[in-house]
Amino acid sequence: MMTNFFQERNGILYVEDVALTDIAEQFGTPSYVYSRAALMAAAQEFHAALGGVVDLVCYAVKANGNLAILNLLARLGFGFDIVSGGELARVLAAGGDPAKTVFSGVGKTVAEMEAALQAGILCFNIESAAELSVLAATAARLGKVAPVSFRVNPDVDAKTHPYISTGLKENKFGVAFDEARALYRQAAALPSLRVVGIDMHIGSQITELAPFREAAEKLLQLVRVLEADGIALEHIDIGGGLGVRYRDEQPIPLGAFAQMLREVFAGRPERLMMEPGRRLVAHIGVLLTRVLYLKPGAPRNFAIVDAAMTDLVRPALYEAWHPVFAVTKRSTTENTSGSEKNWDIVGPVCESGDFLAHERPLALREGDLLAVGVVGAYGMAMSSNYNARPRACEVMVDGSEITLIRAREEVKKLWEAERILPK
Ligand SMILES: *Cc1c(COP(=O)(O)O)cnc(C)c1O
Repeated sequence: MMTNFFQERNGILYVEDVALTDIAEQFGTPSYVYSRAALMAAAQEFHAALGGVVDLVCYAVKANGNLAILNLLARLGFGFDIVSGGELARVLAAGGDPAKTVFSGVGKTVAEMEAALQAGILCFNIESAAELSVLAATAARLGKVAPVSFRVNPDVDAKTHPYISTGLKENKFGVAFDEARALYRQAAALPSLRVVGIDMHIGSQITELAPFREAAEKLLQLVRVLEADGIALEHIDIGGGLGVRYRDEQPIPLGAFAQMLREVFAGRPERLMMEPGRRLVAHIGVLLTRVLYLKPGAPRNFAIVDAAMTDLVRPALYEAWHPVFAVTKRSTTENTSGSEKNWDIVGPVCESGDFLAHERPLALREGDLLAVGVVGAYGMAMSSNYNARPRACEVMVDGSEITLIRAREEVKKLWEAERILPK
């Protein structure tokens, strides 16, 4: 099927030892269903391939910030890459170690900087000169010394979707390669800052090693220049962006990635860090949804399901392709409204962009369950309440045990913070 953790048994799709039909019955749909064993296996793969090369793996919280997932990764020794004060609070609530947490993002507010300074994070990944001076002033005011790294934009093409490419000159991220040296000197001279590292993040869903190597080599060039300037760094953080297989992509083997790092950074004293998100969690989950209505016709056959772009926005946002599986296999001889057809799997939201998949050959009946695969990353994390749709629940399977790790949102909670005018 997809991975060892999502397998068909007697014609029914299982997550570990639990039938998805049972989950639908117990928790309803739409639901995110994760496999703990799949998460453990992904974490283990990182340890096995990168142990001895990468000293600290900081999981990018934005890919999937559920407390249960953060907590499991924290227990395994992972650090965290956060992009907001909200994510910092999540990491702390999940038992994550602030001393293993790096803070990325182009728009950190003073309040967020204060919270991160109070928590004692490992480092601020600085993305502009303006941000640097605000952090220096904020740290000075609190009587703290802020550990800083600069996110350097290496100007390499990660060869991915333009919306998730971040390492080109025209992207908003990072400081320009040519300006980095002056910024490091400036930071090194400020008493409320301590220069500790350098970082990059060139994009997401990258499936070629060459852009990583090119960017890492550029980073190393800069590290050498800084060294000559008398600025010694403690760490080099090569960011995230490792791609996964949704359809037929060939992800970079972690072993090859580790080997590239060994080659590029051979003999360097700095410790290596990275910030993977998608690669750790994409394959741990499916989105379970039920077919509400079938609307066969020309030129398209629509299967309207109870999950929507509000639950999984990647198809609408990036035209992303996710596999879709029938939870219960039907033989094509059964009455399935004309047996197998190419179905467009669409949600109930009032947007033509509200689709989960196009033209999938499936034998469907109304009421059938479908599982949208490889949704553990940027699935629930990017969900919304558009159309007053409560967010789906999240369920973690561990062998035959099922834990609700996030309850389905209640409709009345959607307007809890809203007020009607008195007159
Ligand atoms: C999003 C992000 C990551 C994680 O990216 P993935 O493609 O999910 O691995 C890492 N670092 C930064 C700065 C990010 O913004």
